[in-house]
Amino acid sequence: MNISVSRIHFPVTTLGPGKRIGIWFQGCSLRCKGCLSPDTWQVKDSHFTVAQLIDQVQEWLPFADGITISGGEPFEQPDALLTLLREIKQRFKGNILVYSGYEWGVIEDSVAQMSPYIDALISEPFNVEIPQTLMLRGSDNQRLHLLTPLGKSLFKQYQRVVTPEDKKLDLAFDDQGRLFLAGIPERGDMQRLSQLLALQDNTLKQLKK
Ligand code: SF4
Repeated sequence: MNISVSRIHFPVTTLGPGKRIGIWFQGCSLRCKGCLSPDTWQVKDSHFTVAQLIDQVQEWLPFADGITISGGEPFEQPDALLTLLREIKQRFKGNILVYSGYEWGVIEDSVAQMSPYIDALISEPFNVEIPQTLMLRGSDNQRLHLLTPLGKSLFKQYQRVVTPEDKKLDLAFDDQGRLFLAGIPERGDMQRLSQLLALQDNTLKQLKK
């Protein structure tokens, strides 16, 4: 079974409890205005398989508390998603959180087929016009579904407003050495980061003169 993946990373500490393996799917047709991951939109043919993906994350499994699957849009590769979830659950006792930009009514039947592999799921499209105050969500229309007893016990703590003490972002490098952010940035964070990086770049250029 082929799967198109944008990136994988461990540890991610801002997309659910504990240290997590992050798996970002490649390909999303939803095109939410203000999406912070437009690099994951393009559908790309992939010869990468679920078995190869499992091989790559295998070494992290003993150290991971959970896995977060995001995108891109995982439900636009439903067969690969189901196969991945089934294979992971055979090897891993931790919890699984899945993000989708689809409305709950659209994916409800697919989610039921994936039961009980998904412990918690966040649905609904990101909407930049709607305020962002809730944990794990980019806009407050997004809904956190607690789907298993494990999901209920671990994720009910996220049914609340973000506080200044909550860590929101992990900075990480992908396998090509490019910097990326994992987590849910606050509005304006990306602009502030770009300005900071541009400032540092200018400072470095000045020092080299
Ligand atoms: S569903 Fe996610 S990846 Fe797709 S456009 Fe919306 S925010 Fe971006």
